[in-house]
Amino acid sequence: MTWWSVPLMLGASVVLYDAWFYWVHRLLHVSPMYRFHAQHHTSVCPTIWTNHHETVVEAFLNQSFYTLIVFILPIAWPLLVAQKIYDQISGMLGHAGYEHFASPVARFPWLLASTVFHDQHHGYFRYNYGHTFSVWDRLMGTLHPRYDETVEGFENIKPATPPNGA
Ligand SMILES: [Zn+2]
Ligand SMILES: [Zn+2]
Repeated sequence: MTWWSVPLMLGASVVLYDAWFYWVHRLLHVSPMYRFHAQHHTSVCPTIWTNHHETVVEAFLNQSFYTLIVFILPIAWPLLVAQKIYDQISGMLGHAGYEHFASPVARFPWLLASTVFHDQHHGYFRYNYGHTFSVWDRLMGTLHPRYDETVEGFENIKPATPPNGA
C-alpha cells in the first residue's frame, strides 16, 4: 500500500462494487431469481434492520464480489475490510427511512445516491437498483423519475421546533 494506491484502489473497488450490485440486483428482479430477493422486498417502508433482511442466496451473490475482486484489482485486504465497513454503514443509512444527507451532490449532475434513492426502490420496486451511485440507473433508464426533485425537496426542510420551545 502506498499513499496513492490506497485511495486509487479503494475508489476503484467502490466503483466496481456499485456496478456489481446494480447488475446482481437487476438479475434478482428477473422472475426465476426473484424468489431469492422477495424477502428483502417485504419491507416497503425500510428501517436499518432491513439491510440484512435477505436470503442466503442474495447475500452470497452480493458479497461474492469481495472474493472475486482480488483476481481483478491488486487491492490490499485491509482496504477490502474498510470497504466492507463502509458498505455496512452506508447500507444501514440507505435503509434508515430518514434522509440524513440530502444535498446537491446526491442529485443531477452529481452521482451519489442518498437515502431516498433506495427508499424509492422499496416503495416503487422497479427503480433505483444501484448502491453508492445513481450512474447505472441513469444510464439504463431505471432512475425514479422524481428522484432528483425529491432530494432537492428534502434539502431545505428544517427540523420542526417543538411547541414549547424546548
Ligand atoms: Zn430490489
Ligand atoms: Zn433494500
